Amino acid sequence: MEKRELRVGFYPTTSCYGCQLNVLNIEDKLIDIFTEVKIVCFHMATSASKIEESVDVAFIEGAVVTEDDEELVKKVREKAKYVVAMGTCACHGGVQSANIGAGFSLDEAIKTVYGENFQFDMKVMPPRPLDKVIDVDFYLPGCPIEKEEFLYFLATFIWSTWPEQKDFPVCQECRQKGNPCVVIEEGKPCLGPFTTAGCGARCPSLGLPCMGCRGPIKEIQRVDAMAKMMEKNGVDPLEALKRMKVFGGHSDEIIEKFKSLVRGE
Ligand code: SF4
Ligand code: SF4
Repeated sequence: MEKRELRVGFYPTTSCYGCQLNVLNIEDKLIDIFTEVKIVCFHMATSASKIEESVDVAFIEGAVVTEDDEELVKKVREKAKYVVAMGTCACHGGVQSANIGAGFSLDEAIKTVYGENFQFDMKVMPPRPLDKVIDVDFYLPGCPIEKEEFLYFLATFIWSTWPEQKDFPVCQECRQKGNPCVVIEEGKPCLGPFTTAGCGARCPSLGLPCMGCRGPIKEIQRVDAMAKMMEKNGVDPLEALKRMKVFGGHSDEIIEKFKSLVRGE
């Protein structure tokens, strides 16, 4: 493996900035990160940030919601060798897409949140995940991202390799930990079977159902078996579907599959 000089940028679109904050929260490794790679753009960390400069890896946080967001991500795509969708907003649309997933129009959503007469001084659009606007090379989900997973991504880029994308469910990590299953034991609507692993099954490890904050898995073959398992244990699949749309409103394939199961098709 060959170590390379890496030019890295962090770019925010519409989001809570929590993923970028979590990068800055890696306090014990922050000096290493800033010495190992050249940070070209990271507005939360340095006023010397330059959006227009080229980078090897661009970490883009947030969903594309405004015209400015769209312009920014297209500009970054032109200047970046690799684009990483950072966080569930960038990967799946995130919580700001929840209303869209639930069938609200953008107008209805705006009126519900801001009232009838609110005027925006920017052009807003229905929130979209990054890959509905530009090509994305890698996905780093999480709300916010996991610090260890970010370090793993960065290390692979530094050493001229690529991060392996996780496509197995939270259930796998949950079973490895030996947790009692909150669906089977307590009839709670846990989204672990449908959600991308990587958090170490944080919520079920605390006895709480997974809310799906890392977004749905891509591999969907087991959806029917898992949906039936939920129903058998007293979990309303409609409740699970409603929860799935909170973070994965744009994950049409898994949502459609789940809907058809709920309708008994
Ligand atoms: S359904 Fe939830 S609690 Fe049960 S094994 Fe999967 S992640 Fe764990
Ligand atoms: S268990 Fe689910 S809701 Fe909790 S952190 Fe992991 S993916 Fe997110």
